[in-house]
Amino acid sequence: MAEIIIKGVAKRFGAFTALHQVDLTIADQEFMVLLGASGCGKTTLLRIIAGLETQSEGEIWIGGRRIDHLPPRKRGIAMVFQNYAVFPHLTVYENIAFGLRMQKQPQGEVDSRVRRTAELMHIEQLLQRYSGQLSGGQRQRVAVARALAMEPDVILMDEPLSNLDALLRLEMRAELKGVLAASKTTAIYVTHDQVEAMSLADRIAVMHQGRIVQAASPVEVYRNPAARFVGSFIGNPPMNFLPAKKVGDGQFMVAGQTLTGPSASGDIEFAIRPEDMEIGPGGFAATVRVVEPLGAHTLVTTEVDGRVFRVVIDSNIEVKTGDSLSLVPRAERIRWFDPQTTSSIR
Ligand code: ATP
Repeated sequence: MAEIIIKGVAKRFGAFTALHQVDLTIADQEFMVLLGASGCGKTTLLRIIAGLETQSEGEIWIGGRRIDHLPPRKRGIAMVFQNYAVFPHLTVYENIAFGLRMQKQPQGEVDSRVRRTAELMHIEQLLQRYSGQLSGGQRQRVAVARALAMEPDVILMDEPLSNLDALLRLEMRAELKGVLAASKTTAIYVTHDQVEAMSLADRIAVMHQGRIVQAASPVEVYRNPAARFVGSFIGNPPMNFLPAKKVGDGQFMVAGQTLTGPSASGDIEFAIRPEDMEIGPGGFAATVRVVEPLGAHTLVTTEVDGRVFRVVIDSNIEVKTGDSLSLVPRAERIRWFDPQTTSSIR
């Protein structure tokens, strides 16, 4: 059992607060992705869990044991970094064996673990090569194999695929997901790439300015953002937002249309995903600014009420720059946000 509990963890660098009271529980064998823009504190949180950085406040528990006072090697954690840190002068075999030799594991155990993890990562035919002679993707696999060979309770990965080209990234992503599920390891994976996060995670913890704004399944984060930031960060293109002026109890004026919303004491904000708008009568008056065919769909950037408003429509529908459209939101997909707190209103 390697449930990870992060309790009230804060980190200050001098006067700057990089993490504010972060609470997060990661279930045994869960694949948790920390997602957020550059500087939001993802790496700092990962380094605190690994023991490479000391928190200013809070506790870390793994498998029912408080570990935040332990040195990194006693935490039962393996890490894979962005730069993989594979030794070029060692063979693949010796790279994977490295940590096991440090632990003074008997040769028989080292050999069986190296071969097993190499097979898992599909690099068994490369074991005698020097790592300096490998491609980026192969080196990346060696780094992951080396971490897995330690049979850690927890594996921490900091943007491990960031140096790979797009195709290799896609391949490694799928493999990583399968391999980690098979190894029954609890994983925390840091990325700023939302597609990677959506595709890998059991749950995503969305971070913003040193806080976790939402921790939920990829679908939940996408469909029901807990805060405006999540809706504006996740999704390409992101959610559209429009001011919603209160005109009655649960009635709001949005871009000239009266819509039924939640009960609120004042004006709120309307939000919707670009694929949740339809062209039809009685909708928002939109002027087409840019048309981008994407194959199956067309991304149309319009102007609604003087604001940029993007919609994704079927590529069979023909629209061109300058067209006037009437855009109707799918009622069940509308979300509302409090403009003061930026939290969602249900
Ligand atoms: P990136 O994706 O760019 O790596 P991140 O979300 O991982 O970003 P962190 O590396 O965790 O961000 O950094 C969070 C904040 O803490 C940043 O503003 C960073 O400048 C600051 N920070 C990190 N390490 C230190 C340090 N040793 N001293 C001072 N400030 C630091």
